[in-house]
Amino acid sequence: MKLRTCLSFPLLMAIFMLLAGCTTPSEELDIEPEAVAGLLDLSKLPADNTTLFALNGEWSFYWNQLLEPRDVPAGRGQQTGYIEMPSNWYKYTTEDGSNLPLTGFATFVLDMKIPHSSQTKGILVPPMYSNYNLWVNNQLLAVSGHVGASKEQSIPQKDTRVIYFDAPSGNVQLVLQISNYHNYAGGMFEPLLYGPAPAIQKNHDRNLAVQFILFGILLLSGIYHIGLSFFRNKDTSMLYFGLFCSIVALRNTLVGEVFFTKVFPDFPWEIAMKIEYICLYSMVPLFALFLQRLFPAEASALFSKISVILAAIYAIVTIAVTANVYYLILLYYQIFIVISFVYAIYLMIRAIFYKRDGAIFALVGFSAFVLTSLFDLSGFVLQRHSWQSFHSLGVATFIVCFSLVLSRKLSTSFNMAEQLAQQLTELNESLDKKVRERTLVIEESNKKLEELNRQLQEWSLVDGLTNVSNRRHFDEYLSNQLLHCAKKNTPLTLLLIDIDYFKLYNDANGHIQGDHCLQEVARAIKASLSPHQGLAARYGGEEFAVVLPSCNKENALAMAQILCTAIRDLHIPHSKSLAADHVTVSIGVATIQPGPDTNHRAIIDLADQNLYKAKSMGRNRVCANE
Ligand code: GH3
Ligand code: MG
Ligand code: MG
Repeated sequence: MKLRTCLSFPLLMAIFMLLAGCTTPSEELDIEPEAVAGLLDLSKLPADNTTLFALNGEWSFYWNQLLEPRDVPAGRGQQTGYIEMPSNWYKYTTEDGSNLPLTGFATFVLDMKIPHSSQTKGILVPPMYSNYNLWVNNQLLAVSGHVGASKEQSIPQKDTRVIYFDAPSGNVQLVLQISNYHNYAGGMFEPLLYGPAPAIQKNHDRNLAVQFILFGILLLSGIYHIGLSFFRNKDTSMLYFGLFCSIVALRNTLVGEVFFTKVFPDFPWEIAMKIEYICLYSMVPLFALFLQRLFPAEASALFSKISVILAAIYAIVTIAVTANVYYLILLYYQIFIVISFVYAIYLMIRAIFYKRDGAIFALVGFSAFVLTSLFDLSGFVLQRHSWQSFHSLGVATFIVCFSLVLSRKLSTSFNMAEQLAQQLTELNESLDKKVRERTLVIEESNKKLEELNRQLQEWSLVDGLTNVSNRRHFDEYLSNQLLHCAKKNTPLTLLLIDIDYFKLYNDANGHIQGDHCLQEVARAIKASLSPHQGLAARYGGEEFAVVLPSCNKENALAMAQILCTAIRDLHIPHSKSLAADHVTVSIGVATIQPGPDTNHRAIIDLADQNLYKAKSMGRNRVCANE
């Protein structure tokens, strides 16, 4: 950030140099010759002199008379006396010691002696209150507004003029008529500048260029900051600064070279004056509001409110009354402006003390503005006309400094927003990653859970030792199939299979071998059944059950025989059996046609009875109901 701040200085310097180049003061003599008793003697000057002279000093003064050049030598006018120029005529003291009124009309005459030269001369004519006609050597060369002997005849206008004339004889006579009914005070308040035509032209061009550059800087800065505030309406400091710049830009067209009048010569003088003054009033509250947004902790909201109210009152008065009235109250506003200057500087020093962002730039810019304003004012007071241009430099410095303060403020919030966005993206990414990881973990454990559930389900239905269905599953299956076969009206068979003399087998071979035998028998039963034929289950101990839905008695007997053979074919030796020398089974077969209310107990009992019958008949056989 420091580097960038450093880089902004060359920019500032470039603008300084540009404006300074434009505002190089014209060469001035240490002591400017002044007119004495209506005559300005410049005849001793070298013919090739390029210095500009303010036509100051004692001009012949004809109060309440509008004389033309032909009237003067003819003695038609009655000279009131000599008046120190430039000045408002109300400052003139008459012979009886009284002052002249603020309004009225008069003619001013200046005779000049200049070196004999064929070189064309020029005069820069400033605005006068509130209109004028200027003759040079009998030629009417400048007319501003309409000079008249009454308010009705008089039309005010504020503009600057450049006139050129030849005076090879070395005698020049200026006849200037001024009338005033519209402004507070009448007369000439800035000096006429005289010099060789090229020097006058150069000076005029410089002044115009400076004012145009300044106008451009102010206008662009105004539009830029208003635009920014439009798209970023949270930050009103941009808006106030933009409005401030625009107001100063507008006022800039109405003062100095008054190029507003050059662009719109017929624009009403009264309205232009009102705009100029309202611009001046609104500059204070706009800047106060701007500072309040820029340094909220240091600025006083009360001051901003007071400045807004005061400016509003002045603006309303200015709109309501004529220039010669509101000009009278301007002085009090100027005092308020000075107070505002002091307050703003105090505020910025406080902001620097509390290390607020941009406070140093703000103070530099504002000080440049205030100092050059004072410089300008002193130039005006001391009649050093070339000093006035420094003010433009001050305004430019002011605009550049505050634009930098605002750009810095803006870029700080941009950087913050970018950082936050970056953090948010990172956070989002890590969140996404975490969510993905968690999802994977959850999916994994879900799978495990599903597997576990499946196993649990299986375990809850399967006999752990023999891997055929357990008793619970058998009961459930049997009940369901009874209902199903009842609905389908098909028979249902139940086989109860009991290993013959299994206690003896255990006794002879041990329990582990007995378990192994149970597993072999179960496997043989399961293998004899096709997948959808029915369900094989361990009924309990060494007894198995086979449920065969839709199986009639004939098929049931056949199936029972198959099972008997399959177990017999296992050839598991059983030396203690009384039925054979290997493991055999007795099977009780029950086939019924279930009805809707058939209880599973009934078919089990039936199968059990047949099993008992098979046992009692010597075992190793199948017994079914009739
Ligand atoms: P019968 O021919 O009348 O059926 O006589 P049996 O000995 O087979 O029947 P009994 O009801 O008298 O005895 C059943 C035996 O089955 C007793 C028990 O030790 C054995 N048995 C029951 N469950 C298991 C088991 O899970 N593992 C083993 N190894 N033996 C079992
Ligand atoms: Mg038994
Ligand atoms: Mg048995």
